[in-house]
Amino acid sequence: MALFIGALLSVFLYVFYSLNWSFILVFTLICYLFSFVLIQMRTEKFIYKRVKKIYDDLTLLESASINKVSITTDMRALTKEIDKYARDKKLEIETLKDRERYRKEFLGNVSHELKTPLFTIQGYILTLLDGAIDDKNIRKKYLERANKGVERLSYIAKELDMITKLEAGNLSLNIEEFDIVELVNTVFEMFEMRALKKNITLTFYRDYNQPILVRADKERIQQVLTNLIVNSIKYGKDKGTTEVSIENLTPHKVIVRVTDNGEGIEKKHIPRLFERFFRVDKTGNRKVGGSGLGLSIVKHIIEAHGEKIYIESEFGVGSEFSFTLEKAI
Ligand code: ADP
Repeated sequence: MALFIGALLSVFLYVFYSLNWSFILVFTLICYLFSFVLIQMRTEKFIYKRVKKIYDDLTLLESASINKVSITTDMRALTKEIDKYARDKKLEIETLKDRERYRKEFLGNVSHELKTPLFTIQGYILTLLDGAIDDKNIRKKYLERANKGVERLSYIAKELDMITKLEAGNLSLNIEEFDIVELVNTVFEMFEMRALKKNITLTFYRDYNQPILVRADKERIQQVLTNLIVNSIKYGKDKGTTEVSIENLTPHKVIVRVTDNGEGIEKKHIPRLFERFFRVDKTGNRKVGGSGLGLSIVKHIIEAHGEKIYIESEFGVGSEFSFTLEKAI
């Protein structure tokens, strides 16, 4: 446009005023430069205003950051930013949808878990109120059963509390040095009676005469060992064995293995095993009770330590759960 105006003016001056060529040339050049700068500035201002509005609307960038950049670069930056913005928003929406799905699923699972013991307790209490309370023998039996239901409820509440804390990521670890062999022994002693009921032997893979010192949250690792050992008893076969081994994995890590020769797990279930509320046997008439939270708690604790958990299992043969821990050296 500036060039056109300049050329038009030079022709006009030449035709109507027959001025000197060099004067016309200088005059035209000044005219060209002036109109060029003017048009450029106006266009810049005009586009800048709109671009800035879009930026401000999206609150993507500080308005200052586009002050010094030329328009073409701004447009490119804007397109890029909008593209990024759209992608981020899409991701955000997907995350929110996922969370919503998880929330619904979680609530569904929790209420399902609570319903069973609650109805059991209610059943016994109603029967007692209906007259069974007068029979001394039945009264004691029903109260004991109702109490079992209450125990189960508080067990579920405790597990839910722990998983909520773990998933929210606000469970602080109390890292200390301790002997993992001794801790395994403690857990063995705690569940000796339970294992005995199924004639299951709780044993070490070999003799550990020396302490094996690790650095971790002792209480939480006790929880991990408890869940894994209790599972090996629950899903173990009569006269079976639960074996724990602790071996060096790297100069800085040990691997703790809990192996059983129980019912094992079908391959198709393994990828979902650590999901909260996941149970292989979902039928109401499960032989062994469980909330399906045990393994997901285990995984959360191990991952909170920055360690890894592995599983190997063969259906009908047995399972091996193993996890790594940092050595105290
Ligand atoms: P639950 O409370 O049902 O035991 P877990 O999260 O501890 O929940 O375990 C999830 C499922 O994994 C169990 O329902 C069980 O089917 C399976 N499982 C866990 N440990 C073993 C094991 N040692 N042997 C066989 N199956 C197991």
